[in-house]
Amino acid sequence: MTHDEFVAHIRTRYSDLFDPDNTNEDWRYLITIGPGWWPLVEEYCVKSQALLREHGEIGKWFVRQIKEKMGELRIYVRPAPYERLDIDGFPEMVNDIDPPAPTPVQKLLSDLRAFIVDRANATCEECGEEGSLRVIDGWYRTVCDDHFSEWQARKAAR
Ligand SMILES: [Zn+2]
Repeated sequence: MTHDEFVAHIRTRYSDLFDPDNTNEDWRYLITIGPGWWPLVEEYCVKSQALLREHGEIGKWFVRQIKEKMGELRIYVRPAPYERLDIDGFPEMVNDIDPPAPTPVQKLLSDLRAFIVDRANATCEECGEEGSLRVIDGWYRTVCDDHFSEWQARKAAR
């Protein structure tokens, strides 16, 4: 499976976890991680979808971005934009980072993410084998021994 195929699969199968207003351009940068972490991302989608369905909150939370930062898997989830009345009584769309009030689902989503990220921290982003955080010249990646060697060789060749 290519990266584009993986993204298309997630976009189709778990469409209610993502903002329907996302454009194709948004989707190009929404998921930018290596194949070793794809199964973990899929597991996150399966479990968060079940959790949101169970609590009747499907469509109230959207995954905004899934990426690697400092060698760690990052999954950013935000409340869906919602409408409220402004001070003059006109409806306005609110697009906040945090929900209007903390909800049990917010805590469950955050626990689920921590559970997935903990495992990504021990999983090679390239191949899915056992991995750990490695550093070269201030660049961080979570990789297995083989992919660390390959990365070192690539850096040395520059
Ligand atoms: Zn590997």
